[in-house]
Amino acid sequence: MGIAVSPQIHPQVADFIDKPRKMLINGQWVNSISGKTFPTYNPATGEVLAQVAEGDSADIDLAVKAARKAFDQGPWRKLTVSERGRLIWKLADLLEQHTEEFAYIESLDNGKALTIARAADVPLAVDLFRYMAGWATKIEGNTIPISVPYTPGAKYLAYTLREPIGVVGQIIPWNFPLLMAAWKLGPALATGCTVVLKPAEQTPLSSLRLGELITEAGFPDGVVNIVPGYGETAGAALAAHPDVDKIAFTGSTEVGKLIVHAAAGNLKKVTLELGGKSPNVVYKDADLDTAIPGAASAIFFNHGQCCCAGSRLYVEKSVFDKVVEGIAEEAKKINVGSGLDPQTEMGPLVSEEQLRRVCGYLESGFSEGAKAIVGGHRKGDKGYFVEPTVLVNTNEDMKVVREEIFGPVVTAMPFTDPEEILPRANNSEYGLAAAVWTKDISKAHRTAEILRAGTVWINCYNIFDAALPFGGYKQSGWGREMGHEVLNNYTQTKAVCTKVA
Ligand code: NAP
Ligand code: MG
Repeated sequence: MGIAVSPQIHPQVADFIDKPRKMLINGQWVNSISGKTFPTYNPATGEVLAQVAEGDSADIDLAVKAARKAFDQGPWRKLTVSERGRLIWKLADLLEQHTEEFAYIESLDNGKALTIARAADVPLAVDLFRYMAGWATKIEGNTIPISVPYTPGAKYLAYTLREPIGVVGQIIPWNFPLLMAAWKLGPALATGCTVVLKPAEQTPLSSLRLGELITEAGFPDGVVNIVPGYGETAGAALAAHPDVDKIAFTGSTEVGKLIVHAAAGNLKKVTLELGGKSPNVVYKDADLDTAIPGAASAIFFNHGQCCCAGSRLYVEKSVFDKVVEGIAEEAKKINVGSGLDPQTEMGPLVSEEQLRRVCGYLESGFSEGAKAIVGGHRKGDKGYFVEPTVLVNTNEDMKVVREEIFGPVVTAMPFTDPEEILPRANNSEYGLAAAVWTKDISKAHRTAEILRAGTVWINCYNIFDAALPFGGYKQSGWGREMGHEVLNNYTQTKAVCTKVA
């Protein structure tokens, strides 16, 4: 294609996007059965970046067959757990060696700043694989003393096995394309499952490059299959497929509900990591020198395209003006530009659709009486840039406060009564994350207990670790990603009972 490739682009990445990218099925790179491709765009320019094979239900079917065979018959199940762990570790090493290349791919395909992809997305993905590699040898059952009251005198030896759930369909979004692939693949591989992964249509490239490393690391054919394509076709076919044992999905709550319906056909297991509208509570006794930049980065990190973005800001009234003006100052300082520019701190939104969506929310906020003290508009007319925005004069009846915007837009609201604020903070259909800023340690932990969210940050925000479980209360999802908890979602328990006397 050679479109939108400037001399600054990493040479291997220029090569990678120069050819139409194929899909990975049963260890082979193949075109789609239909022969169709779809374009992926550079959101900084709106130009086509690369062409990618467009998978649909026929390709999903082939990929599921490959994953099924690899699970039921392939060498994968015969590997020792130590060998499995070593393969995952090797994948982490390979990914680390290609950090620069992946950072460029993420920046080009998603729009995010190269500096951030290099410092956060890629290293966190590497770390996740290493953490999960360690788990491969540590997934254990129990021996269980039992009584069996209706067989007096008999002796039994009972134990449990934790077995892989089988063929897993994984559907991921575009906001952290490589990292979401790692969050999904890591536990599936550690537990011995096989996978069909469908990346987001906006950002398929890093998953496809990761597929090359998976092959290079030596994973047997069919263990990981990667089928790019559209959600309504490829994604829906995967969610409904009768030979898939589990779906792991990250994305919008709306599509999460479609997944649940689609999964009902064969009652496949489902885990969901969905949207959020996370409350960020700043008490007047907070250290404002850290709370102000912290609250700014809670919403502006990754252009607000984070499911856990701190998008509902509640500030105690006596410090409201100071905090909100401080965040506005932080917003003004943010360098918005092409992700490849080393000065850039915030790139474009991922797509034209997302730009329209975020601008639509801004208009809706203004029409309901909100006021922007900074930002509030699209930036420029090329690429999908939006100004970092702080909205005031907002309340919980407004769409901008209730719904997930998924852009760099925070709604700030004052509160006077510390008792009244937590029910307001909890007044959301979502429950993914929340934060509290205070120097009073008792208040911090009391608040953490009351907030109904899967993650509560105290005096910090967006702190992630491979060992820390992440997921949602309420309509923010089912199950947890990361930590040892995620392994429960990829294994099932078999009870074995032997009569010994
Ligand atoms: P989305 O539609 O939920 O997309 C997430 C993934 O699901 C993508 O791979 C998508 O494929 C796929 N998908 C879409 N429809 C499907 C279906 N019917 N069956 C199976 N898979 C399907 O999210 P989006 O449209 O990209 O973004 C819309 C909003 O979702 C955002 O504005 C934001 O509010 C929220 N969101 C949340 C997260 C999160 O991390 N929780 C991430 C992204 C977006 P395509 O790529 O082809 O659509
Ligand atoms: Mg793209």
